[in-house]
Amino acid sequence: MKGGNAAVELAEARVEAERLAGVQRIQAAIRAAVDVTASPFCDCGERIPDARRQAVPNCTRCFDCETFIERQSRRRA
Ligand SMILES: [Zn+2]
Repeated sequence: MKGGNAAVELAEARVEAERLAGVQRIQAAIRAAVDVTASPFCDCGERIPDARRQAVPNCTRCFDCETFIERQSRRRA
C-alpha cells in the first residue's frame, strides 16, 4: 500500500518534534532546579556531570569519590 504515507509521516514528525520539545523543556527545568540547590563541583574539584546531578538530586560528590567513600564506610562497618 502506497499513497497517503506522506501525510502520516508529516504527522508523526510533528508528534516527535513536540515530544522532543517537551523533553527539552523538562530537562531545562530540572537543570535549573539542580543548579540552585547544589554546587556542580565535588570536594576533589571534579565537576559533577549534569546527568549524575539530575539522577541524584543534591549530590555533592563525583562518582569516583562517592564510590570511594561508600567502599570505606562499608569496610568500617
Ligand atoms: Zn570527587
